[in-house]
Amino acid sequence: MRKGGGTMKKGEINKMVEMHEQALQEMGGFLTNFSATVLGDLNKLNMIVVALLREQNKIIDYECECGFTTLIPKLKHVEIDTHCPQCGKEYLTDSQQTKVEDWDNAKVAKEEE
Ligand SMILES: [Zn+2]
Repeated sequence: MRKGGGTMKKGEINKMVEMHEQALQEMGGFLTNFSATVLGDLNKLNMIVVALLREQNKIIDYECECGFTTLIPKLKHVEIDTHCPQCGKEYLTDSQQTKVEDWDNAKVAKEEE
């Protein structure tokens, strides 16, 4: 009887492990689908924001010394990461940010001439 009970217990444990693994696999599948959905939405949102900013000339393509190109939004009150994602070099200091605005004003002035 003890032997039989022991075998049953082992069987139950195996079943539990099996169920646990199945649950983990299902959860993994759910998380994969979930993150794919969220990432897809984020991508769409990002594309819309970039397109809107481009339309209003509120975004510039900045090419770093290392050759990496990144987008810099020209928005007031928005703190952006001023380091190149590729090499970590700071690409936009305060003085350069002023220059960007000056450049923008100069462009407007030129158009008026
Ligand atoms: Zn760089």
